[in-house]
Amino acid sequence: MWYDPFKSIIRRDEPLAMHTWFQAGGMAEFYAQPETQTQAAELVAAASEADIPIRLLGEGSNVLIRNDGVSGLVISLDSPEFQKIVIEGNCIKAGAAARLGRVVTTAVHAGLAGLEDFIGVPGSVGGALHVHVAANMTKVSRCLRSTTEMDFQGNTFAKSAEELATTYQDKSLNSLIILEATFELEPDDPKTLAQQMQKRWILKKSQQPMSFQCCGRIFKSPTGASAGELIDRAGLKGARIGGAVISERHANYIIAEPECSSEDIIRLIDLVRDQVHKRTDVLLDLELEIW
Ligand SMILES: Cc1cc2nc3c(=O)[nH]c(=O)nc-3n(C[C@H](O)[C@H](O)[C@H](O)COP(=O)(O)OP(=O)(O)OC[C@H]3O[C@@H](n4cnc5c(N)ncnc54)[C@H](O)[C@@H]3O)c2cc1C
Repeated sequence: MWYDPFKSIIRRDEPLAMHTWFQAGGMAEFYAQPETQTQAAELVAAASEADIPIRLLGEGSNVLIRNDGVSGLVISLDSPEFQKIVIEGNCIKAGAAARLGRVVTTAVHAGLAGLEDFIGVPGSVGGALHVHVAANMTKVSRCLRSTTEMDFQGNTFAKSAEELATTYQDKSLNSLIILEATFELEPDDPKTLAQQMQKRWILKKSQQPMSFQCCGRIFKSPTGASAGELIDRAGLKGARIGGAVISERHANYIIAEPECSSEDIIRLIDLVRDQVHKRTDVLLDLELEIW
């Protein structure tokens, strides 16, 4: 079988709920955690050769797994090789599986400014770049200098800031694995930066569900409006289907209570989209990915 050489890093029928923030949903047919870049290259090449669909999973903060699960191969890069964070002059280089929050605090403590807006945003560097995360009107690509990526045939290549600007426009990041990213930052006083970061962190925490709650952010904010405010205006704070509830703290988040199923969340998403459309004439676009 195509997966025979990877038996030490691959699992069949892996429950994905525990790998996502919603903690709901079914299994991955194959789940692998490569330990090195070479192993990752050999794995994706073998899976592609066997026509096995490939998906990358970061911290699972923007993904909802359907009850039926995912066919094909789900890859997590959550191994030490892909979690490294290194300061090089004014730059910070981070592996795809490094937590975005840890990259921010490392930069701030080293007196490097530019990433503080992203404190409190969950997820990995790979996920943040793929989704093109934004916080406080700042996009994660703003300070991005280069990336190292891999295609599904296992070829690795570097991308410059100019190439990345085009990539972000045509969304071609979809069929690529982000392995590493380098951000170019500005020297600043670490104490002042730490204070600014702390203020943002407190604000961010107050605008999202409590950290012990299983949850997900659902819709993109349409131009000139806030998805949370539109949902709130439609009177949907606290709306519930089964174990899925619209957060009272911020209406663009769904909380998954214990026993919540992915189907509950999907039905609540449909209800919110429908009600907001009826009451405000705005059709909300999903930010969350449903696998
Ligand atoms: C409480 C909360 C607060 C949030 N606040 C914000 C916010 O302020 N701003 C914002 O923009 N978003 C926010 N989000 C959404 C979420 O945090 C981001 O989308 C995050 O960047 C996703 O990263 P992840 O590692 O969890 O990716 P995942 O959810 O695991 O995956 C997301 C996508 O990235 C892809 N991906 C992951 N790793 C890689 C890789 N190495 N190479 C290629 N593709 C990859 C996956 O295939 C998937 O398509 C929030 C979510 C929650 C739950």
